[in-house]
Amino acid sequence: MGHLDTPHLQEHPEVSTSMGSSQSIDMIPLFSDVVMNKDLDFLSAIKTVLDRHWYVLGEEVSNFEIEFAQYVGTSHCVSVANGTDALEIALRSLGVEPGDQVVTVANAGFYSSTAIHSIGATPLYVDINESTMTMSVDALAGALTQNPKCVIVTHLYGQMAPIKQLLALANQAGVALIEDCAQSHGATIDGRQAGSWGDAACFSFYPTKNLGALGDGGAVVTGSADVAARLKVLRQYGWSSKYHVGHTGGKNSRLDEIQAAILRVKLPRLESWNSARRDIANRYNEGFASLMDAVPAVDDSYVGHLYVLRTTKRDALRDFLKSQGISTDIHYPVPDHRQAAYPQPNISGSLEVTDALSKTLVTLPCFPGMTDKEVASVISAVRTFFGQ
Ligand SMILES: *Cc1c(COP(=O)(O)O)cnc(C)c1O
Repeated sequence: MGHLDTPHLQEHPEVSTSMGSSQSIDMIPLFSDVVMNKDLDFLSAIKTVLDRHWYVLGEEVSNFEIEFAQYVGTSHCVSVANGTDALEIALRSLGVEPGDQVVTVANAGFYSSTAIHSIGATPLYVDINESTMTMSVDALAGALTQNPKCVIVTHLYGQMAPIKQLLALANQAGVALIEDCAQSHGATIDGRQAGSWGDAACFSFYPTKNLGALGDGGAVVTGSADVAARLKVLRQYGWSSKYHVGHTGGKNSRLDEIQAAILRVKLPRLESWNSARRDIANRYNEGFASLMDAVPAVDDSYVGHLYVLRTTKRDALRDFLKSQGISTDIHYPVPDHRQAAYPQPNISGSLEVTDALSKTLVTLPCFPGMTDKEVASVISAVRTFFGQ
């Protein structure tokens, strides 16, 4: 995958739609893994799988699950087909049923909403904190009075939510908490990783994520052996044993051996890729310090999945950057509670901050292997636009 300009990948919400194939040669893309993948030996990994002639739930998957659990600092990892399935299966493993309410934010691309709806449960949307753009602690406190079954906390853009405070509230109310870590592989607070806090945590290995396969992939991690056992049943038809369906809510959602082998090659590089992302974000922050007050706070709790600016001149800035050969995107243009397919959302409190910020967000290129020259030209173009 080069500049993500194939028609299929262009349809994915994570990928800039401004990268038409006619432009991709000259444009600085939003994401590219050309440099990241340059020295990696995928062929040997794939050949090992081919020589073994075992394609689903084999040695590569078991080894990846052990290695990834170890990396995150949890005792169990159960891999699945993608990040959205991870959320759905995690919700079911914690007892979420049709008609239940699940607290979530409305600014995180509808992924958690998709998973909640797939069960026949209902999202209960709460507002975000203006500075972190993740779930507001006060808003969660309000929603917990409405007797939800579960809370999904999304560590958005690679920035960890205030997980300690959110978890304390959920624990106090006796409500299960799932972390959505699809954008935050490797982020830490007090040395503890995203994914090691909640009752379960979900990861996506979509190619553009900080740890990405060469196709779809996902995982749920948990510290509970019971939850892990339920996850394994749910990802494979609800089987209690082969061909014996002992549990409702099962589906087929498995990571395949080739993708697991690829992820095992990439996992040892994740930390250095995350530092490369942070370095770019730091350079952006220096370059933009005099232009705006809100830039991402770059520390260990942020892994630079997306570098997101806020400006009321968003559309004009995007047009200008495009004219300068710089790809941008909006994560995300339509908040979940305003999606056409679900016109009567359940909302706790107001979604004022979510609504206001969604009109100002713009994502700039930030990926390992982005050259110093490319970073400098993004900074200079943004500064020029703002008259500096
Ligand atoms: C990408 C993403 C997902 C979904 O992952 P898929 O593998 O594409 O299903 C879920 N949550 C967030 C926050 C994401 O960015």
